[in-house]
Order: sequence, then C-alpha cells, then structure tokens
Amino acid sequence: AKRQGRNTWQWYQDISKTTAKLQSVTLRHDLHHALNEDQLELYYQPQVDAVTGHITSVEALVRWNHPIRGFVSPIEFIPLAEQTGLIVPLGRWVLRQACKEIVRFNADREQPLPVAVNISSLQFRRDGFLEEVQQALAETGLPPQLLELEITESVLLDGSWQVIELLEDLKKMGVQVALDDFGTGYSSLSYLRDLPTHKVKLDRSFIKDIGNDHRIAAIVQGIITMAHHMDMCVVAEGIETTAQLKDLSRYQCDLLQGFYFARPMPLDTLLSLPKTLPETKESS
Ligand code: C2E
Ligand code: MG
Ligand code: MG
Ligand code: MG
Repeated sequence: AKRQGRNTWQWYQDISKTTAKLQSVTLRHDLHHALNEDQLELYYQPQVDAVTGHITSVEALVRWNHPIRGFVSPIEFIPLAEQTGLIVPLGRWVLRQACKEIVRFNADREQPLPVAVNISSLQFRRDGFLEEVQQALAETGLPPQLLELEITESVLLDGSWQVIELLEDLKKMGVQVALDDFGTGYSSLSYLRDLPTHKVKLDRSFIKDIGNDHRIAAIVQGIITMAHHMDMCVVAEGIETTAQLKDLSRYQCDLLQGFYFARPMPLDTLLSLPKTLPETKESS
C-alpha cells in the first residue's frame, strides 16, 4: 500500500508539473496577442512625500486583462516575456504609453508629476535603448525631467561599464533613474557605489518586518543614512500600516509608496485623485 501511495504521489506530481508547463506555454502564446489586441493596461501607484503627504510621482505598473483567465499578474507574465524576448516590444509599449498618459494627466495641473517606468534588464541593456527613450519623449512631448526609469541591480550582471555609460547618458538627457527592489540582491552596497542613480527603492520585504525585527530596522536606518550621504533619495515600498509609516518617517525616509496610501489604479481614477493623500485610513 505504501508503494502504491508513492506511485500515486509521483503520478500526481507529474500531472501537476505537466499542467503547469502547459499553462505557461499557453500563456506565452497568448501574450503575443495581448499587445496587439489591447489587453494590456497601465495602472499607476502614487509615491508621497513622507513629510507633507503630497504626491510626488506615480509608478506605472502593467496589467494584463486576459480574455479567459482574467487578470494575470506581472509577477507571472513579465518573466515569460523576458524568456521569449517579447519584453522588448512590451517594454517599448509600456514606456510610450506611460509617457503619453502622464502628459494627459499633467495637462490640467499646475505642478506636473513625473512618471516612473519599470525597465527590464534585458530591455535596458539592449542596443538602441537610449534612442527608444528619446523617441518616446519626442513623440509624446514629455520633458525628460518627468521621466524616471526603475532598474534593478541585475542590469549589472555583466558588461557593467556599458551600463554605467548609458546611465550617464540618461542623466545628461535629464532622465532620472531609480534603483528598484534595493536590498534583495547580492552585492547591493557596491552597486550603490558604482551606479550614478539618484534614488533607491527599499524593497517591500524590509518594510514588512521593520516593526518586529530590530536588525531589519537597523539595516533600513543604515541604508537611509548612507543614501543621504551619497545625495540619494530613498523610497520605501509596500507601506501598509500606520506603524510602518511612523517608523520610516522617524528614520527620515524621503518618500513612501504602498497600499496604505493608494493601490495601483487606472488612469481615470488617478485623474480624479486629490493632491494630498490622507494618512488616516488604514487600507484594507
Ligand atoms: P515593483 O516595480 O517593485 O513594483 C511594486 C509592486 O508592489 C507592485 O506589484 C505593486 O502593486 C506592489 N505593491 C505596492 N504597494 C504595496 C503594498 O503596500 N503591499 C503589497 N503587498 N504590494 C504592494 P505589481 O504591480 O504586481 O508588479 C510586480 C512587479 O512586476 C514589479 O515590482 C515589477 O518588477 C514588475 N513590473 C510591473 N510592471 C512592469 C512593467 O511595465 N515592466 C517591467 N519590466 N516590469 C514590470
Ligand atoms: Mg518598480
Ligand atoms: Mg520594487
Ligand atoms: Mg518588487
């Protein structure tokens, strides 16, 4: 009976592996159509000033509305797009769309807001990326100062000198660059030394445990202090509670982003948002 049990288990595992594989194959196939058939949409999540609560910028986050499966998370399909190379046209679409929509958003505001766009390492390191950025700005009329690119330290996996050169070129153009998911990689500190970026985004995994682990709190304080000494600005990702908000303000974190203030939202909702986000209600 024991043996049989194991066979059944094995069989079950094989089936579920096959199913998972099939699903990813289908999804990969569907992703090709997503771009052409208008199934992608950008949502926007505000970043707020930790002192004033004013919205200082918004991050564009891509959403896929699959005709059968419904909403598919970018955590699932961005890696697929990277495997298939589809990240190149997809990333180009995201960049242009974000520039276009923020221009629309800014049209009737006195204080224009910058938009932050996530850039996959593959997209960033590909020849012609700088031109792609210039083209998106030229076609949409967005001033370079209102564009911020979010990259992760994986852009430095190899050929780092070219990446640094590219970052310098972007800086000269006036485009801002932020280091996303900071603290999750392997040699974060040396990357901070080498990368000419103006902003670091502390990964949500730190924020999650900041209140119940004094070592994490120490790391966060250390990163903030260090970044400030390097004239960099720090954003905390994934603020969900008042306690986290208080801790990060105490540690002098500059900007905050998270469900506590606002979830990512479609452009229409963003258009009707007040300038200051209330710090009173706890998000569900
Ligand atoms: P990210 O760039 O680090 O984006 C932050 C993620 O955290 C977003 O997930 C956002 O919805 C989520 N988040 C924000 N505040 C909170 C919070 O308080 N609590 C929790 N639990 N989550 C929060 P999302 O939109 O699912 O995106 C996941 C990742 O997918 C992004 O992480 C980014 O790496 C990637 N991604 C999203 N859009 C794009 C894109 O257009 N291009 C590329 N290359 N990657 C993208
Ligand atoms: Mg990001
Ligand atoms: Mg992040
Ligand atoms: Mg992340």
